[in-house]
Amino acid sequence: MSLPIQKNVPLQTLNTFGLPSSARYFASITSDEDLRAGLQFAAERNLDTLILGGGSNLLLTRDVDALVLHMVGRGVRVVSDDGEQVVIEAEAGEPWHPFVLDTLARGLVGLENLSLIPGTVGASPIQNIGAYGVELKDVFEGLDAWDRHEGRIRSLDAGDCAFGYRDSRFKREPGRWIVLRVRFRLHRHAGLRLEYGAIRQWLKQDGIDSPTAQDVSRAVCAIRREKLPDPAVLGNAGSFFKNPVVDSAVAASLQSAHPGIVIYPQADGSVKLAAGWLIEQAGWKAHREGDAGVHALQALVLVNHGAAHGEDILLLARRIQASVAERFGVVLEIEPSVL
Ligand SMILES: Cc1cc2nc3c(=O)[nH]c(=O)nc-3n(C[C@H](O)[C@H](O)[C@H](O)COP(=O)(O)OP(=O)(O)OC[C@H]3O[C@@H](n4cnc5c(N)ncnc54)[C@H](O)[C@@H]3O)c2cc1C
Repeated sequence: MSLPIQKNVPLQTLNTFGLPSSARYFASITSDEDLRAGLQFAAERNLDTLILGGGSNLLLTRDVDALVLHMVGRGVRVVSDDGEQVVIEAEAGEPWHPFVLDTLARGLVGLENLSLIPGTVGASPIQNIGAYGVELKDVFEGLDAWDRHEGRIRSLDAGDCAFGYRDSRFKREPGRWIVLRVRFRLHRHAGLRLEYGAIRQWLKQDGIDSPTAQDVSRAVCAIRREKLPDPAVLGNAGSFFKNPVVDSAVAASLQSAHPGIVIYPQADGSVKLAAGWLIEQAGWKAHREGDAGVHALQALVLVNHGAAHGEDILLLARRIQASVAERFGVVLEIEPSVL
């Protein structure tokens, strides 16, 4: 069956910033066959393509003069189960948080700290999503992706994906890979990660002494709801900047100049700086320029108060980058994909 392709499709409801943009061509991809048909359509017309999941890590600054391939294929299956370790596979279009809840309902441990991250399973390896001390790579088993260089589906393991902090091979080879499905190695009895953020405190307040993975998920959801704006209410893409990683000498000199600086020493000796703290100290928290703004509770999050365009958000981001560089000598890198 041929793939239905629409023209001039509005994308405002398909990106969590709620930014106005329109796709010249648009197709919903539910299977590997759909993807092949979409790529063929684009090749025949010499069109660029844009892969779209939940649009929660995307800054659209203009109309998309390309074929948008919206990854909406669904399906979750157990690949193997030895009684303790379970490998579970989900199609790219599975919404992330419901998938996490599904694994928890099956009694599996591993994804609880990554609860309530917006977006799709297929996008989760792109920036190696992370939260509350856990990154996708910690539970990653493998994935299938369409390799546009070789024109075939390939299975990649963690080594192939070269995961880093909010980084992967897929970010470093833009346009090459389209993730079709992802496999996760989860456990029935693994230890829980409680040491990050306010998880332990939240559990204690709720009178939970021996938490389950589902308790941790509930704690993470509650903490996130308090701290982060809901894109359904206030357009945003979560953290807009990565936490900069510097070497220990740079961190020490920043610490002596700014004793309150928030830092996270890393296992490899480098030091992660809290970008939100830098932005707040530079005076940007709750700042607003028209409808583009910095969130009042979390300076790391840029928001669309209603009628901002992607260019307005990008302009504000550039001004924040320049001011943080001037004040602290630290370069802030934008986290979402900018189009
Ligand atoms: C309120 C809020 C909170 C957030 N919190 C976190 C957090 O705690 N941790 C975190 O890591 N992120 C967080 N994010 C960012 C975002 O949710 C994740 O990066 C998520 O994985 C993006 O998924 P998506 O489907 O929306 O991707 P999209 O925004 O649709 O796409 C993002 C990028 O990935 C590419 N892409 C998408 N799907 C595929 C695919 N199948 N194959 C190849 N490329 C693809 C796109 O082309 C684009 O370049 C948050 C965002 C919001 C709005």
